[in-house]
Amino acid sequence: MSGLRIGNGFDSHRLVDGRPLLLGGIEVQHSRGLLGHSDGDCVLHAVCDAILGALAAGDMGTHFPSSDARWKGVASAVFVEEVGRLLGQRGASVEHLDVTVIAQEPVLAPHLPAMRARLAAMLALPLERVSVKAKSADHMGAIGRGEGIAALATVLIQVSGAA
Ligand code: MG
Repeated sequence: MSGLRIGNGFDSHRLVDGRPLLLGGIEVQHSRGLLGHSDGDCVLHAVCDAILGALAAGDMGTHFPSSDARWKGVASAVFVEEVGRLLGQRGASVEHLDVTVIAQEPVLAPHLPAMRARLAAMLALPLERVSVKAKSADHMGAIGRGEGIAALATVLIQVSGAA
């Protein structure tokens, strides 16, 4: 059945010493980075889950289980590539992607244009179909204490054919 489908994704990772901070496929200069089986890029993980949700095709845990050594330490761009391939196989394409990153630190505003451009390039989308926003947690809760970073993604996809 052809038509529009919507998907949402959420992810969060803990900030730890001794790791680079990768968000939206770019490295952000910071004293700590996100811990994870892969590079910990919660923005790309939320995007992947949103697309998988729109396809009703499970989630990242289904496709890239942390029990599988193949995905250990992998750049999360690889996950986006795989999910993009699945989109193509299902005769689907992204109409629009909107992402919110929630971080108390570092200040992400200066990095949003690069994240947006990187996401658009990864998904082969024009820039105007990709939005990346950042919010602080107003010093509330674990994220507000700088213990980690979270990301939310909403995607609208167009499915053509009998997928
Ligand atoms: Mg994750």
